[in-house]
Amino acid sequence: MSGTPFYERVAVVGIGLIGGSLALAAKRLGLVGDVIGVARSETTRAAAIEVGAADQVTDDVAAAVKEADLIYVSAPVGAIPALLEQLAPEVRLGATVTDAGSTKADICRTGLHLLPASFIGGHPMAGSERAGVRSARADLFEGRTYILTPQGADDELVERFVAFVSALGARPVLSSPEEHDRMVAYSSHLPHLWAAALAVGLARLPEPADLLPFVGSGLRDTTRIAASDPTLWHDIFLANRSNVLRACDLVETALQELRGAVTEADSTRLLAYLQQAKAFRDSLGYTEPAPEGVQRGLRLAIDGPAGAGKSTVARDVAKALGYTYIDTGAMYRAVAYFAMQAGLVAGRDDEQIGELSGRLRFEFRPVGDERHLFADGQDVEHAVRLPEVGRMSSPVSAIPLVRHNLVVAQRQMAAGGSIVMEGRDIGTVVLPDAEVKVFLTASPQERARRRYRQLREMDIEVSYEEVLNEQMVRDQRDSSRAVAPLRKADDAVEIVSDGLQREEVVARIVALVRERQDG
Ligand code: NAP
Repeated sequence: MSGTPFYERVAVVGIGLIGGSLALAAKRLGLVGDVIGVARSETTRAAAIEVGAADQVTDDVAAAVKEADLIYVSAPVGAIPALLEQLAPEVRLGATVTDAGSTKADICRTGLHLLPASFIGGHPMAGSERAGVRSARADLFEGRTYILTPQGADDELVERFVAFVSALGARPVLSSPEEHDRMVAYSSHLPHLWAAALAVGLARLPEPADLLPFVGSGLRDTTRIAASDPTLWHDIFLANRSNVLRACDLVETALQELRGAVTEADSTRLLAYLQQAKAFRDSLGYTEPAPEGVQRGLRLAIDGPAGAGKSTVARDVAKALGYTYIDTGAMYRAVAYFAMQAGLVAGRDDEQIGELSGRLRFEFRPVGDERHLFADGQDVEHAVRLPEVGRMSSPVSAIPLVRHNLVVAQRQMAAGGSIVMEGRDIGTVVLPDAEVKVFLTASPQERARRRYRQLREMDIEVSYEEVLNEQMVRDQRDSSRAVAPLRKADDAVEIVSDGLQREEVVARIVALVRERQDG
């Protein structure tokens, strides 16, 4: 184990898919010491040991939590309040109690009442239609949002748990239990309800099996979550009844409208409806997983010193491969832009800027022939290029929490593959497991010559020697800076672009990616 673990002893009460995945990830990353798994059935307990999710197992909740400094309750939603009642008297001072339930209001009311200083409500926005500890995966939380509703919990405990969730590779987001329940009714519970209704409707056909030869990926995709554990969802719908019903009204009205347009063969209304549906789905910015049998695109990391032409090359390579270019610099500029809008100043308000960076949602969406950066649904592609935003982005990117939040967001964006990311430490820190890494460089003299030419074209009076000197100083600063120093990954392919045209560099990198993809 490397470093001090966040928690020496963890009790996972209800060690199934979610609890097991948390334990596997935390153990693998060395974030915890001993894990004791609690389950009612002998089968679950044996499986938890077998897959390596627990070091010990028991069916005795009270005994398991006595010595624990993190108690992770991941039983079905309907069982969590009673489990909290059962374990609360045994929780030792300074321990953190949290749950993974998909609804929060009822559970947090009980948690706040029984364990006001130590209960932190939680909901990892990760999972699958599979259940049980045998389906647990150490990477389940990676790049996923993890909602936390800490309410009265001790600040120090919250801080530690937030850091623990980040170290798991998830993205902690603070909310209130009520807001959480309102929002997940639309984002999670409604899709589930819809999938279940669709599945039940089709199951009532006289001969449902006759459908099988006609089934394509559409039905498979829209009913996937209907295969989840019925008892789990029974509890969720009942625990979040009023919000689920409100969400249901919304979609029932929408279905009536669609039905009306089809009944009346109203082509204009029907097309407008379908266009609105497409625009919404596109706005979610999903990177589609490659369909079965089709290979997913790779992740390409390009690092190198300033002036090596990385961003132009990265953009061209992305275009040639049909990949998304993730402009990490623009993301730091977007944080600077939103900080300026909020009247925050780097150096004075670093904590608030750090928090702001964790709340922003980034996407690169197609706009015409280009891809623009959207932050919180707003197209900021042009705003982030303003010189004053550029000036602020340098101190903003040196704030450790900003850097941390953006690296998490960048990993999340890269998770679907088919991306090109460029910077100083992409291949070593941001995406150390990128399938292709390129270190694009050129001699200081060559880079200075290019810069000198650019400046002269802009009618800026400067000598070549001045540009070269400045270049040397910048190289030295970039490789010795505390935050994100320039480093070449051991497994990166080095391309020295002296004497090469831009097109030649692009062609070499494209060929390298295709070679790796085929190999
Ligand atoms: P799971 O795989 O079925 O695991 C649930 C675990 O709880 C099992 O180990 C089960 O083992 C135990 N359990 C069941 N009923 C219990 C009861 N009445 N008292 C005590 N223990 C009980 O379910 P999961 O998917 O991990 O879900 C766990 C929690 O995470 C739920 O609250 C769910 O809402 C939430 N969640 C799920 C997902 C998802 O996609 N699955 C995503 C986010 C959050 P024994 O029966 O052997 O005791």
